[in-house]
Amino acid sequence: MIVLSHKDIAALLPPETAIEVVAGAMAATSRGEAELPLRSIMSAGGSNKMGIMPGMMRDPPCHGIKLVSLFPGNAAAGYSSHQGAMILFEPEHGTAIAFMDGGPLTALRTAAASAVATRALSREHASVLAMVGAGEQARHHLDAIIAIRQIVELRIASRTEKSANGFAAHARKKYPHLKVTCGTDIQSTVKDADIVCTVTSAPTPILQGAWIAPGTHLNIVGASIPTKREIDDEMILRAQVFVDYRRSTFAQAGEIVDMIKAGAIGENHVLAEIGEVLNGTAPGRTDGTAITLYRSLGIAAQDIACAYHCWQSAKDAGRGVVTRL
Ligand code: NDP
Repeated sequence: MIVLSHKDIAALLPPETAIEVVAGAMAATSRGEAELPLRSIMSAGGSNKMGIMPGMMRDPPCHGIKLVSLFPGNAAAGYSSHQGAMILFEPEHGTAIAFMDGGPLTALRTAAASAVATRALSREHASVLAMVGAGEQARHHLDAIIAIRQIVELRIASRTEKSANGFAAHARKKYPHLKVTCGTDIQSTVKDADIVCTVTSAPTPILQGAWIAPGTHLNIVGASIPTKREIDDEMILRAQVFVDYRRSTFAQAGEIVDMIKAGAIGENHVLAEIGEVLNGTAPGRTDGTAITLYRSLGIAAQDIACAYHCWQSAKDAGRGVVTRL
């Protein structure tokens, strides 16, 4: 078994690589080549949760499980909001072959999935990126979106000036070519942006559909449990909606579950999985004025494919700690 640390994952899975690995996993999922039981979520006390995400893939040939603690108050204490571990198994004897830090794996694969969706659905010359939320996901999303579109302007909105300013300073240092603005007003931040990412831990809507201009592409990422939602009903009604995996969307994407229950939309309002768009079995954006929306929940196939890549690259590079169980 190889044990891989935070540092190992960061070195073995740069954003450009993560994007291609995750694109492959999403396409395979939509071809029915992954076994993905619904994620279970249990309380870990107070507002803390633990997610249990198993899955199996045909290619890469492996199965695995991610165990992830979702602790929303962690950022204030200097910890990632997602702590966890991923265990990867080989298919011949079911032996555990890798154990790795699930925190960076989650952050990198989530941002990569948004980049895959953005590459498939946003207008090709999209150059203005609005980020709502300024935490760990925001930083990873910036790296991933910059890898697939020629971004020239970054606008940041967060709940507090402090975190918006902190993220802006990080972005200016890392990408000096960017025009960066920041603040707390979400409406003006998203106005006429080409790409909008919501990466907040807000439990109730922070973004209204009425604020979004025709042609925008959105990645709605922050609400990964059914009791949370970042967007209002109008946002869903105005958009062409794409998802990572229908089965989990209809069980766990808060606003979509609620709207279907209320009869406001049918399941057919979700046009396609991103993997179907990648496979050419469903169309993507219909025209330049459509609003496209990728509703991200995160699926185990993304974790497993990234973990397999890290395991294989670690073996090739002699990275990580090799141990016997
Ligand atoms: P962080 O705690 O690092 O950052 C959360 C950010 O949300 C902070 O910038 C915070 O602002 C901002 N925020 C919270 N409430 C509001 C609000 N009402 N209005 C505007 N901004 C707000 O979390 P992460 O970046 O690690 O994760 C962000 C979200 O993404 C989480 O909810 C997480 O569960 C989800 N997630 C989703 C995944 C998926 O696959 N879809 C995978 C991983 C994470 P401030 O600092 O100013 O308070």
